[in-house]
Amino acid sequence: MNERRARILAVTNQKGGVGKTTTALNLAAGLAELRRRVLLIDIDPQGNATTGSGVDLADDQPTLCEVLTGEVELPDAIVAAEAMGFDLVPANGDLTAAEVALMDLEDRSGVLKQAMETVRGRYHHIIIDCPPALNVLTLNALTAADGVLIPMQCEYYALEGLTALLNTIEQIQDSVNPALEIEGLVRTMFDVRNNLSGAVSRQLGEHFGDKLYSTVVPRNVRVAEAPSYGQSVIHYDRDSRGAVAYLGLAGEYLRRQGAEPK
Ligand code: ADP
Ligand code: MG
Repeated sequence: MNERRARILAVTNQKGGVGKTTTALNLAAGLAELRRRVLLIDIDPQGNATTGSGVDLADDQPTLCEVLTGEVELPDAIVAAEAMGFDLVPANGDLTAAEVALMDLEDRSGVLKQAMETVRGRYHHIIIDCPPALNVLTLNALTAADGVLIPMQCEYYALEGLTALLNTIEQIQDSVNPALEIEGLVRTMFDVRNNLSGAVSRQLGEHFGDKLYSTVVPRNVRVAEAPSYGQSVIHYDRDSRGAVAYLGLAGEYLRRQGAEPK
């Protein structure tokens, strides 16, 4: 029997605005473009990955909130993001209610992992777009994940807070998820004209060695424009520097898994 188990990647950084959602969505689209079956899970109450995926949700469409509160099974919350080439478990502001409900549970960080079990056989890759906080939602993502990808903006305060994130990852490794790996750090919104970017970038290289992805995502207006058209930057403007970078990131991700080209 050829049993497939999706690799689960949490895209995490407790800072807001560093490019988590952009990276989760465009990496998912890039992997789909490379003919992988991909599920994107939005676990941020802001729902940016959901709106950016260009899906029209029916009023009664279940979201991740109902999955985490046990009202529906995860497969029933999946929608096809056709323009993107991947499937999506959407989220919206209701997720805050699920976050509160989770706090009452004994196994509050293992709920997502449990819920995902039944769909792991259907996909090659599952990508989770985390909220900008080290809260119970992020803990659910880290408990379920095989790897963590950390988007970093190379600016003065970028390294601040990284210690807290690395400590959290270590706590998860020491308790519920010993197999969790730091997949890597990816530089986002990179500006070559900014000297500080280069300095921070070198520091990251010294600290993290080959965990630092060699693909660098440049600051590129096409990347920022794409979500308002409900498209990935790869579909929106394939020749843009942003699209080239995110396709490159998908390729690097697969190479690092030692994947055979399809
Ligand atoms: P996060 O999910 O970490 O809060 P986002 O992915 O939402 O961050 O990105 C924050 C903002 O920066 C968004 O408006 C997004 O469109 C913009 N942005 C992200 N990456 C780029 C990029 N490479 N070039 C230009 N703008 C970007
Ligand atoms: Mg986000």
